[in-house]
Order: sequence, then C-alpha cells, then structure tokens
Amino acid sequence: MVVSTMASRSPTIGESPKHRQRVEILGMQIDRLTYAETEQSLARFIARGGAHQVATVNIDFLSIGSRDPAFRALVNEADLVTADGTPVRWAARYLGSSLPARVTGPDLIDMAVRHSAAHGSSIFFLGAAPGVAAAAADALAVKHGAFHVAGIYAPPMGRLDGPEDVHIRRLLGDARPDVLFVAFGCPKQDFWIRDHRDLGVPVSAGIGGSFDYLSGRIRRAPRWAQRSGLEWAFRLAREPRRLAKRYLVDDVQVLGRIGISRFTRKQEASSQGERP
Ligand code: UDP
Repeated sequence: MVVSTMASRSPTIGESPKHRQRVEILGMQIDRLTYAETEQSLARFIARGGAHQVATVNIDFLSIGSRDPAFRALVNEADLVTADGTPVRWAARYLGSSLPARVTGPDLIDMAVRHSAAHGSSIFFLGAAPGVAAAAADALAVKHGAFHVAGIYAPPMGRLDGPEDVHIRRLLGDARPDVLFVAFGCPKQDFWIRDHRDLGVPVSAGIGGSFDYLSGRIRRAPRWAQRSGLEWAFRLAREPRRLAKRYLVDDVQVLGRIGISRFTRKQEASSQGERP
C-alpha cells in the first residue's frame, strides 16, 4: 500500500470561470475538456488542495436541472463538469458546439487510482450497498496495482442526517482523503458533496452506479452500446420498473427541451443579425 503525502488544506474555489471553456445545455455549463485534460485537472486539484466538486452530467442531470434551479446552480458552481454519455455530446453538437470527450464515473475512478498508484494520493469510497465499494477497490487494485485506500463506508440508504452525518464527517475528518467518490445516485450525491465542501476534500465526485459496475455486481452495457448512445437501453432492460419513467418520460421531455432550445437560439441569432 502506498502512503500519501498530505498538503495543508483550506477550502478554495475551483478554476476561475474565465479560464474555463464551457458548453451550455439547458442552462447547465459543461467543461470542454479532453480525457487527458480532465485527468490533468484532477491532478491539479489534488496538488492545490482545498475543496473541488466534480459532476458527471448525463441526460438525467439535464432532466433534473431543467426542472430544478438549485440543481442547475450546483452544476454551474462545480469545479469540473464532464459529459457523461454520448447523448450529451450529441446534444452539444445539435446546439452548435462540441464536447471533445465522454468522461464517465468509472473513467474518473480510473484516473484517481492511477494518480494514487503513481503519487500516493488517497481515495475514500462512500456509498453503494455494503461490500460493493470494497469489491470495486479490489478489482481496481487488480487492474492498476496497489493504491492508497483512505477508507470505505456504505451508509444506510435514505436520508443521512443527525448521528449518521456526524459519523460520516468523523470518518472523513480522520481519513483526510485526497479524493472522495460518492455513490448515492443523482441528485442526492451531488447535493451531499456540495453541502460537505467544508470537509476540504481536494476532489469529490458523484459517480452514481460506478462501484456496482466496477465490482461486477451489475454488468455494464458493452462498449459499442456506450459509444453509440444506447447504454440507457441496457439499463432499462435490466431495471424496467425503476427506470421506465426516467428514460421514457423525463429524458424524452429533455430531448424536447433541447429541440426548443435550438429553435430559440436560432431565433435570437437571426434577430441579432437583423439589427442595424
Ligand atoms: N445508493 C446509496 N444510497 C442511496 C441511494 C443509492 O448508496 O440512498 C447507491 C446505490 O446502491 C448504487 C448507487 O447509489 O450503488 C447509484 O444508484 P443509482 O443507480 O440510483 O444512481 P444513478 O447511477 O442512476 O445516478
């Protein structure tokens, strides 16, 4: 096991917005970064210390954010926002811009584990059913070699207030990880990270079902399906009761909103062109 070197920390704000190139979809800003640039950003956050929130935007995020201004604000205030899914890259292209890469929760975990194995940074795994994150960490050690696990904890499902919150705060305060992955599902995990910024973890990322995939508990859609934007169909086939409304109602509405957004942008562009 590698021992991490910890710099002294105080919560800081992330990248200055003026240094970020971002693409806006339905009022949510997504960083225009390649896979390598995303990995470099994580390394920079770890080196700098402070607290940085990473959000991985997929169509569900766009759906929730298009209905909830607080969630939209959370995404826009996050320090790094990746496009988690081929459909988000399509949406960007449809709206006249481009997002160079798809960077998912498992991709962020791979990046952090590589950093840990090479530089000794430490990673805390929070969330998922008992035993799942530990199995994911074991699988990651097989793939990347030994790395520094700062801690693993699976809190009970549902609200995490009162003594449970005190307990989690104490665990993280003692472990002082460089990177924290939170698997509570969206938007719970992302609000939780925002509300725990004061813990001063240099990188905190909500990663949804990533521990389930990495542990092998749930089989992920094959790569060709991920690349061709069909991952949702595999998830829907596996969990139709839980996901039917999300994919067939909420996400279809989002596609409609994206269509309206393109129309509105074109109208605005042509009315600006007509001005003397
Ligand atoms: N989960 C959790 N606590 C909760 C809700 C969910 O630990 O209160 C875990 C769940 O076990 C799973 C992960 O969060 O490992 C992601 O859940 P889901 O598939 O709903 O998230 P999504 O990837 O769809 O955002």
